[in-house]
Amino acid sequence: MKIADMFKDGKTVFSFEIFPPKKENSFNNIITVLEELSKLNPDFISVTYGAGGTAAGCSTHELVKLIKEEYHTESIAHLTCVNSTREDIDRKICEFHEAGVENILALRGDINPNIPPKEDFKHASDLISYIRQQTDEFGFSGACYPEGHMESASVVDDIINLKKKVDAGASHLISQLFFDNSHFYDFIEKARIAGITVPIEAGIMPCTNANSIRRMVSMCGASLPVKFTKMIQRYENNEEAMRDAGIAYAVDQIIDLVSNGVQGIHLYTMNNPYIAKRIAESVEKVIRL
Ligand code: FAD
Repeated sequence: MKIADMFKDGKTVFSFEIFPPKKENSFNNIITVLEELSKLNPDFISVTYGAGGTAAGCSTHELVKLIKEEYHTESIAHLTCVNSTREDIDRKICEFHEAGVENILALRGDINPNIPPKEDFKHASDLISYIRQQTDEFGFSGACYPEGHMESASVVDDIINLKKKVDAGASHLISQLFFDNSHFYDFIEKARIAGITVPIEAGIMPCTNANSIRRMVSMCGASLPVKFTKMIQRYENNEEAMRDAGIAYAVDQIIDLVSNGVQGIHLYTMNNPYIAKRIAESVEKVIRL
């Protein structure tokens, strides 16, 4: 099923992100993660993509195949293009086709200052246009940034570029993490004014470890509201208290978003089914009302 079709009846979509296992012995872990996550009945699970695949022999499209076939859940394969040639993408598309992938989250990927980007694809929109010239079998999603992408001069500039991605064929968007819902609401208003009409899901990252959140925020530029920084200062030295406070913060964000008519919640699970379960159970009735 194409992801955009899930939004047609107006229900709030609830989805998860996972990443492929990084080590040989963690393949069993990902199976446990998927078993637990699938019990929470997500509408779909997206699988991230890192250049070069994984040492475990379980790459993005293989996980997508597993999610669809074993857990009967729709899935999205992420795909980046910044370090790929057209031939690399052609090969990927063959692999995706053979694995039964139906949905692609088309991404540029981050530019590594030590690796000069390849010339064939400058932006996610180029990747979507290129694949759509070859085949119409995939539905495309794209990333969006409520506070603007790090390289953009302003949120408005970024939205003008986002419109190009949608015009190229992205029929569904997933947002970068944010901790202040007002940024998301401002972004949605501007995106709609710019003529972006496709469904937009809010990306929610539960803060359960202060250091990893600080690292992520320094890479993506999300701002931290006072309420959030106070929570971290108070609980960061107690693992369980930090985890519980982070879960409560994410639940609070989700309830506010759903009350304000968000079209979907995309939970960055970090392959942690315990946290996903606690959040999903807390918001189940709120989302499925
Ligand atoms: P683009 O859409 O190409 O945008 C990048 C910059 O170029 C922006 O500043 C934009 O305003 C500008 N721009 C875009 N299109 C145009 C255009 N046509 N003309 C001129 N300027 C333009 N990274 C991974 O490596 N693997 C993953 O699995 C992964 N998953 C992600 C999932 C989500 C939901 C999100 C939000 C991010 C994810 N990322 C992932 C990170 C992502 O690769 C980076 O944020 C990257 O820096 C930008 O990717 P993009 O697809 O948004 O790029």
